[in-house]
Amino acid sequence: MTLGKSQDSVKYAAMTRSTLLPLQPSRRAFLHRSAQVAMLGSALGLAARPARAVPLNVRSLMLDHTHTHERIDLVYATGEHYVPQALGTLNYFLRDHYSGEVGQIDPQLFDLLHNVRQALGSGVPLSYQIISGYRSPLTNARLRSTRGGGVASHSLHMEGKAIDIRLPGVPLAELRDAALSLKAGGVGYYPRDQFVHIDTGRVRTW
Ligand SMILES: [Zn+2]
Repeated sequence: MTLGKSQDSVKYAAMTRSTLLPLQPSRRAFLHRSAQVAMLGSALGLAARPARAVPLNVRSLMLDHTHTHERIDLVYATGEHYVPQALGTLNYFLRDHYSGEVGQIDPQLFDLLHNVRQALGSGVPLSYQIISGYRSPLTNARLRSTRGGGVASHSLHMEGKAIDIRLPGVPLAELRDAALSLKAGGVGYYPRDQFVHIDTGRVRTW
């Protein structure tokens, strides 16, 4: 690790110097001197300092399930990478609470939740209340027959691409508007049942 870094700084010093001083007696001597420069710099605490780490985009979620009464607070992604274990935990957390079946939730849905919270600009980490996550086809059909309107026959809940939420402390219309502002999927407003449906499907609203 340390070796790698010092090699990098030698390379970097070499690059910098070669642009400034194109005529070098020999590459070997040049590298040797560059290494000395790098070591000197290092001794002075100037060079060879690891480049300032790019702040990792660590994304977390706090969820509170209204049916199972389970709660989680976890980091699910860092930069470009989703945390596999966290995704597994979230899949289970958002299981079909009627049948217990665990679905595969589209990780982009977690980013959507994260981004909605960011869009709201609250400095306080707020916990979502989850009304519904994954739904098995059977559960969806049952809900459709008992509730009718509001339950689509090809609900994106069955594909793990939809979630019904509310955010205590944030008016429901404000939550909806934050989701709409992202133009990142579907947003359904259900003031009577006090939840907003968001999904990673086409951009649409109802
Ligand atoms: Zn929904």
